[in-house]
Amino acid sequence: MPLVTGDFILQHARKNNYAVCAFNVENMEMVQAVVSAAEETGSPVIIQTSANTVKYAHMDYYYAMVQAALKHADVPVALHLDHGDSRDLAIQAIRSGYTSVMIDASKQSFEDNMKETKNVVDVCKPIGVSIEAELGNVGGKVGDQEYGAAGYTKPNEAKEFVEKTGTTSLAVAIGTVHGVYAGEPNLDLELLAELRNTVDVPLVLHGASGLSEHDIKQCVEHGISKINYATELRIAFTEAVKEYFTIEKDFVDPKKFTGHARSIVKQVAIEKMEMCGSINRASTMNI
Ligand SMILES: [Zn+2]
Repeated sequence: MPLVTGDFILQHARKNNYAVCAFNVENMEMVQAVVSAAEETGSPVIIQTSANTVKYAHMDYYYAMVQAALKHADVPVALHLDHGDSRDLAIQAIRSGYTSVMIDASKQSFEDNMKETKNVVDVCKPIGVSIEAELGNVGGKVGDQEYGAAGYTKPNEAKEFVEKTGTTSLAVAIGTVHGVYAGEPNLDLELLAELRNTVDVPLVLHGASGLSEHDIKQCVEHGISKINYATELRIAFTEAVKEYFTIEKDFVDPKKFTGHARSIVKQVAIEKMEMCGSINRASTMNI
């Protein structure tokens, strides 16, 4: 099945009150694990690469790997640039074949964030590429930058932001942080519900790695349509490789440990899809 846009998947999720998992991938095995999890569970899914990941390998590689996986799978998949930080990077993603891009100018002033987002929307919208922008501050580490306490998204600003920029989805700050949680997350679900009722585009949750199943379900119930998982999949892959080296010492074939890690990542992806409620949703989409 060919790639679909992020909007196609997210609009369906918003309308039907579930969330789509967006998994950050780093290599071929993670792409295979995510697509295989999606296919096995009939779950639409978003595969994404961060701005750091595409410094490691060009977006052309990730696009080609996802396309190869989709030759053998029949499930709706969108390919998304996560935490893009410039119009130039968005254009590169579009040229590589990505169907969705994020422009994250959330660390800039409200006005500058709007301006930067609008610049990317103007490039993407006419050619049907989906856009995710971010408003408010999700704490933690993005790329090489470390951010402190979260600044929650304000509903009145969110409304103005979406109307003026035309972004097709919005990442909101409701108390999550990127990376691994040091303490208990302090989620503002009332604020989330208000945001859901104030803006008419799908809402995105960053910093979900480490949230409990209860928290995830609450976020979905209160209006989140896309949940990003980066850290947890990286940990799953890396821990599986380390584990393999403790069990098997006498081998030379890299496929042994990457294959083991691939099967673990697939299991984690399926667990997340179950939590988000995206299982068996693919068959109800009009493709
Ligand atoms: Zn993020």
